Amino acid sequence: MSRKPIIAANWKMNVTPSEAATYLDTFLANYTEAQATDIVIGASFVTLPKAAELIGPNPAVSVAAQNMSHEASGAFTGETSAAMLNDIGTDYVILGHSERRSLYGEDDAVINKKVHATLAAGMKPILCIGESLEEREGGQLENVLRTQLSGSLADISAEQMADIVIAYEPVWAIGTGVTATPEQAQDTQKFVRSVLEELFGGDVAAATRIQYGGSVKPGNAVELLGCPDIDGFLVGGAALDPESFAQIVAAGTAG
Ligand code: PEP
Repeated sequence: MSRKPIIAANWKMNVTPSEAATYLDTFLANYTEAQATDIVIGASFVTLPKAAELIGPNPAVSVAAQNMSHEASGAFTGETSAAMLNDIGTDYVILGHSERRSLYGEDDAVINKKVHATLAAGMKPILCIGESLEEREGGQLENVLRTQLSGSLADISAEQMADIVIAYEPVWAIGTGVTATPEQAQDTQKFVRSVLEELFGGDVAAATRIQYGGSVKPGNAVELLGCPDIDGFLVGGAALDPESFAQIVAAGTAG
């Protein structure tokens, strides 16, 4: 089955609304043949409305939030709801990023609530999973990923999986400059797909887009995207430069 590549920038806590204007001017002038690839810009809550406005209606480029509350509304100071994100034209929500898990204590149960809330609001989750180096070296890789997938996707139907993107991000490769080798990424993503098959059946497993994330750069994007189970990227550091992100997107178009 052919799956359309999806390449997402995770700006993290970078890029102010004014900086987004400069970035998107350059990026939108540099990306090529975008129709062949879904492109997503993951901005902070404050920058998101500006990014959505600057991108405008664009069949290839969407915006993502980097987190969201699972609560609908009410006394949750500092939180942002699905309705608020929907209101400003948010398409995707990045959920369960390793920084949310490790720095803010998010576990699979809360991530699962967020996945449900995102889908209920008509947006698409980009669900991040990944193991630490200690877990990989300790032989826990498969257990960790299976637990994250089954917990974060609890009570999700096969039909709902059509709107979910999985981002496999080995924690040891995020922001470290150490990229998983194409073999490591491919083997692990094949395993992730096999878990999706156990949970949802072969058709869903074959259709689900699985991104790789962890020190992706223009120089390694083409080779990684050549792997059969890698359907795109979630990119942090290299996506802070619009020209470098445009080159990574071009790799998706070439692949
Ligand atoms: C990320 O934060 O999702 C990420 C993959 O970061 P980097 O590309 O910098 O490793």
